[in-house]
Amino acid sequence: MRIVLLGAPGAGKGTLAKDLIKFFGVPHISTGDMFREAVSSGSELGKQVEQILKSGALVPDEIVNKLVKERISRQDCENGFIFDGYPRTLQQALALDEMLKSMNKKLDAVLHLKVSEDVVVKRLTSRRICLKCGKIYNLLSMPPKEDELCDDCKIKLNQRDDDREDVVRKRFRVYNELTAPLIDYYKQKGILLELDSDANHETVVEEALKALRKVRR
Ligand code: AMP
Repeated sequence: MRIVLLGAPGAGKGTLAKDLIKFFGVPHISTGDMFREAVSSGSELGKQVEQILKSGALVPDEIVNKLVKERISRQDCENGFIFDGYPRTLQQALALDEMLKSMNKKLDAVLHLKVSEDVVVKRLTSRRICLKCGKIYNLLSMPPKEDELCDDCKIKLNQRDDDREDVVRKRFRVYNELTAPLIDYYKQKGILLELDSDANHETVVEEALKALRKVRR
């Protein structure tokens, strides 16, 4: 199953992807995670994208496409993948079509997670992450037991630089301008599925699975 999760930052793509991979047994590919890993490892790529990530702007298409092409040609993507945060521009969507065509493959479904800006701002500015174990908390909906400390590692939780309100609002603008046009692109291809992501997490997972079961491959 080859699935794209499309939606504004904070729509819940990453959380949904983690649930869906259990059902489909395919890798979760988050370009945002790949860039963050590159930044923390101090690699050449990391140095190239660090300031871009901090500002909430997009990494140039050529860099992202190259990274994705290499990733999906690995063995573990043979039976599919779930993209979270890619493609994010029309140019990336076209490049992905070309990549898959050259591999004799195609996308099965694009899940659009609809969410409002106010919900996104609330969700993202209260998101905290444990830098040691990677566990994600939300101070409003999924708080740690002790004030801003990881339940397991007992270290202070971290806020992503790009989860601060001004950057979140910028990321939302960037999404509306550059990524939202992909909704129509995939609708015209007949593979778009719409989900209400303002709903609670269990409902979103249930609806996503219901919609994906109907997809013919
Ligand atoms: P995310 O975790 O998906 O919100 O991504 C974090 C940041 O990584 C974004 O704000 C961009 O700077 C960069 N990024 C991730 N995926 C892409 C992409 N497909 N195209 C361009 N930039 C990206």
